[in-house]
Amino acid sequence: MVCPKCGKEMRTGYLFSSKDGAFSFAGKVPGALENAKNTEGFVKLTGLKAGGRTSVGASCCDACRMITIQY
Ligand SMILES: [Zn+2]
Repeated sequence: MVCPKCGKEMRTGYLFSSKDGAFSFAGKVPGALENAKNTEGFVKLTGLKAGGRTSVGASCCDACRMITIQY
C-alpha cells in the first residue's frame, strides 16, 4: 500500500486497542449510552476479543503520521 499523502510505500502492521474492546468507524463518536451501530455511517471494523488485544491489519507512513486500514 502506498501513502495517499506522499505516495511512498507504507510500513505494514496492525492497529490495535489498548484494552479489550473493538474498533469501529462512524461520522461522529456516539455517546456512551447510545448504541454505536445506530450512528450514521457506522462501519464495524473488528469484533470483540476476550483475553487479548483487538487488532486490524494496517499500513503506516511514519513521515506523514498516516495510518490506513482496510476492512
Ligand atoms: Zn506519507
